[in-house]
Amino acid sequence: MRHDGFVLFEDRVTRPLHVVVVGGGIAGLAAALRIRDTAPDGTAVTVIEQSGSVGGKLRTGRVAGVPVEDGAESFLLRVPEARALAERVGLAHDLVSPTAAGATVWVDGMLRALPAGTLLGVPADLEATAASGVLSDDGLALVRAESCRPGVPLGDSDVAVGALIADRLGSEVLDRLVEPLLGGVYAGQASRLSLRATMPALAAGLADQPSLVKAARAARGNPRPETPPTPMFATVRGGLSRLVTTVAHESKAAIRTGLPVRALQRTPDGWQLTVGSAGLGGSTTVRADAVVLAVPAAPASRLLADVDATAAGTVGVLEYASVGLVSLVLPGRLPLPPGTGALVPASSGRLVKAVTYVSQKWGHVVEARGLDGYVGDPVTVVRASVGRHGEETALQRDDESLVATVLEELGTLVPLPGGWPAPLGVKVNRWGGALPQYAPGHLDRVAAVRAALATEPTLALAGAAYDGVGIPACIRSGQAAADQILSALATRVPA
Ligand SMILES: Cc1cc2nc3c(=O)[nH]c(=O)nc-3n(C[C@H](O)[C@H](O)[C@H](O)COP(=O)(O)OP(=O)(O)OC[C@H]3O[C@@H](n4cnc5c(N)ncnc54)[C@H](O)[C@@H]3O)c2cc1C
Repeated sequence: MRHDGFVLFEDRVTRPLHVVVVGGGIAGLAAALRIRDTAPDGTAVTVIEQSGSVGGKLRTGRVAGVPVEDGAESFLLRVPEARALAERVGLAHDLVSPTAAGATVWVDGMLRALPAGTLLGVPADLEATAASGVLSDDGLALVRAESCRPGVPLGDSDVAVGALIADRLGSEVLDRLVEPLLGGVYAGQASRLSLRATMPALAAGLADQPSLVKAARAARGNPRPETPPTPMFATVRGGLSRLVTTVAHESKAAIRTGLPVRALQRTPDGWQLTVGSAGLGGSTTVRADAVVLAVPAAPASRLLADVDATAAGTVGVLEYASVGLVSLVLPGRLPLPPGTGALVPASSGRLVKAVTYVSQKWGHVVEARGLDGYVGDPVTVVRASVGRHGEETALQRDDESLVATVLEELGTLVPLPGGWPAPLGVKVNRWGGALPQYAPGHLDRVAAVRAALATEPTLALAGAAYDGVGIPACIRSGQAAADQILSALATRVPA
């Protein structure tokens, strides 16, 4: 017996449980592993994934023989779930931290170090912000004035990040600091993103504190100088696909790829899923006692249509931004500027919105050649991210033109003494409609969806559409979904 809550259930039911997880991204896989770890022995878990492989936005590819992430590259350590998951599946010794620190932002035609002491770009340390030179004298004066002439506390209300920052701290803080940093997470425009959902610590501080600068300071706390700096991020040696495949393996779930789930219906004693294409291959039905829906909002909304129209409609409101990644493997150890990379404000008019100096930030990528099967002369790996929410047409160019524009812009954004050499290898990854855009009111909408589904506790939602887009948040949502359905199964009265 592995869980007290299952005593009642096991006494009453003889056939084994079957749980289906729809969607094999990191949220769905974390849910599958949690079910394996906590469900009664004999519980069958099936992960059904529409694409040819599991992992979703976590996928490690190869460029000129070097392992390079096609999607997400690392996870925050402050939110513990990703590190804990890696440890759970035996990857603790393969976690690696950045080998460089500090990023820059392109302002007035040059790269300047991002100031220390900000909360996602909101200045908390005015002296550090002044010393960075990122803001003009006028821009800095607005920030100094705000801490003395604050607005009104926000209370419980939600607002768009962009309007709040521009109103109170001026457009430079928005354009040069907050939007580039938020854009790194959401690829979104701050004018359309919810403060409560994307900057919860700041929103909490503003509930009764009228000054943004003071709320940012309070949310950051007072870091103790004697504490050695710990890395903020980590990734997995060999790439995040190793995390994906190890979690999938450890879950012992039946992994069914290449199969879209097309419909979900309630039955008297559980759920029925229609799986497979409507065309040539035909479709089949799968029975389940409980279901975790770990898919993006559009498919989740379609699958909820026969379950609860309100939940389906509300989930379907969520918009997504598209983003493109251009990875370049270049010959030699290029003299890149110090740090992990550069952010490029939207006002620059450039297509590139961020550049990561991959081989400088993650030394293991080019050091561990034997491990990764890559042997050759020294190389430099750089990844440019292109496309902001609403700029999808930029991503419709062909690869050749996208790469040419990126190389041309790199020449201006990150000038190198001898210029940028011709790459040894290039890879373009387009992630269409991939990053959820939490608009103001997002948290209320998610609460409304969960309330609408409260009568169906053996159906749970997980993934980036709801409680955070970062890898740790997605893992946590998968685990919470697993906990919800298992607790419902443990207490239900069988038909
Ligand atoms: C380019 C990019 C870079 C990122 N970088 C980072 C980063 O560095 N750090 C970080 O923390 N986060 C990053 N993120 C965010 C993070 O990677 C994602 O939010 C997270 O991986 C989403 O996981 P998920 O399981 O919720 O969804 P997904 O990864 O989208 O997985 C959902 C799965 O469901 C499947 N599916 C959809 N419909 C159906 C259906 N009908 N039937 C069956 N299967 C279906 C999909 O094929 C997909 O595999 C990045 C995101 C992107 C796009």
